[in-house]
Order: sequence, then C-alpha cells, then structure tokens
Amino acid sequence: MTEDCIFCKIVEGKIPSAKLYEDGDCIAFLDISPAVKGHTLVVPKKHHETLLDITEEGLKALMIKVRSIAKSIVDATSAEGFNLLQNNKKIAGQMIPHIHFHIIPRYPGDGQDFSWKHVKYGEGEMEEYKNSIKKRL
Ligand code: 5GP
Ligand code: ZN
Repeated sequence: MTEDCIFCKIVEGKIPSAKLYEDGDCIAFLDISPAVKGHTLVVPKKHHETLLDITEEGLKALMIKVRSIAKSIVDATSAEGFNLLQNNKKIAGQMIPHIHFHIIPRYPGDGQDFSWKHVKYGEGEMEEYKNSIKKRL
C-alpha cells in the first residue's frame, strides 16, 4: 500500500470498484471512465509504478491473468476484438502511477480511434536507432 495511490486504495477496498476478478496477486475492475463499455483495468496488488519496475515473475503472472480476463470480456460483450494498452509515465498518458493494463473491447461503431500520427526517419537514423537499442538488449 502506497499512501495516496488510488489503485492501492482500490486493492485495499478503501475505494469501491466494480470488481470483476481478484486473487492473491492481482485485481481487475471496470474503468470508471471507459473508452468503450466493458473497458477493464488489470492491476497487480503490489505497488510498482511502471512496467520497468515490476518483477519478471510478477509480470508473467499478471499477463496470464490479462489474457484470461480479456477472453472473458470478449465472450461477455461479443466484441470483435480488443486493445491492450499500458501507459508508462505521465508523458505517455499514465495518470495513475501504479502499473496497470487496460483491456478495451472493440465493437463496430464504438467511436474510438487509437491511431497515431506517423513520423519519418531521416537518412541513416533508423540504423542508428536500431543499433543503439540493440546493443542494450
Ligand atoms: P492511465 O492513464 O494511468 O493509464 O489510466 C488510468 C485509468 O484509471 C483511467 O482510464 C481512469 O478512467 C481510471 N480511473 C481513475 N480513477 C479511477 C477510480 O477511482 N476507479 C476506477 N474504476 N477507475 C479509475
Ligand atoms: Zn499503488
């Protein structure tokens, strides 16, 4: 539990939520302000800020739950597909600094558009990005 973290408070039951699933490691509940009806958040119970902070073991367990909850959402809502989103840090749209996955069911005409603006690499720049990232892997 981290003071003032909304998701820690939901985990602790101090803030109510439309809870779909809970086990020893994670909790899933409906997003209070959904992009599409059925929009669900899957949250590990332990407080970590971003994907880079959670342990590999914690992440593996979480991802298995994310997939199984996504399947149930698709089955329940007859969605044609879903988006899986995960924002890291404010610059990337993370409002709640407690790692979570968004599962957003998608229906024809749901009014959402997750497309982004595309940019172009300059001469040789793609190679530079490739090399710089690759050598750190
Ligand atoms: P983020 O921008 O951090 O990736 O996503 C945070 C999400 O949490 C938002 O979609 C927002 O609607 C949702 N959210 C924020 N506060 C609450 C809350 O108190 N209850 C629930 N169920 N969802 C919340
Ligand atoms: Zn927290």
